[in-house]
Amino acid sequence: MPIAPPQSSSRSHNYAIVTAIMAIPFGPSNISVYGGRSNYSDAGLAMNLPQTGGCQCGKIRYEIAEAPQLVYTCHCKDCQRLTSSAFSLRIVVVESAVRLSGIEPRALQRMADSGRTNTRWVCPECGSWVCSPPRDGMMRVRAGTLDDTSWLRPTRHIWTRSKQPWVMFFEGEEIFEAQPPA
Ligand SMILES: [Zn+2]
Ligand SMILES: [Zn+2]
Repeated sequence: MPIAPPQSSSRSHNYAIVTAIMAIPFGPSNISVYGGRSNYSDAGLAMNLPQTGGCQCGKIRYEIAEAPQLVYTCHCKDCQRLTSSAFSLRIVVVESAVRLSGIEPRALQRMADSGRTNTRWVCPECGSWVCSPPRDGMMRVRAGTLDDTSWLRPTRHIWTRSKQPWVMFFEGEEIFEAQPPA
């Protein structure tokens, strides 16, 4: 019986590329530019308003008229599973500055590690998690759904006790092992 040929290497090759891309924002080459900065405008990252974005299929779109108050990452196990990645990246924007358009998002709920019930709005067509319903006058938008992600620079990291070991932070950034105090 002939020995089966080795499986195509394309799959493992793709994994290597994804890993490399994800590692870039935390790589040592960025330290000289962004190290210790807590504000993305200080870091010289250009951001234009309004910001636009949407789900993967484009049936949900949004426009954001104001700069976000916060850009942060969440390393909780649920975010890792829901994003099928190492962490989620979010921006926090004043509710009145966000305008959603297109089809109506589907609301999905989960019990968060913090004990709170979290609702996420996903596109019913393509399944992209776009944002969460407004809470305390603020909208939390999934940063990866922005059309322009070049200016994103997280300054806060939460639930770091379950972060991947290769994720590193810069001096001056806010780090919380679990949910930050309200
Ligand atoms: Zn969609
Ligand atoms: Zn999370």
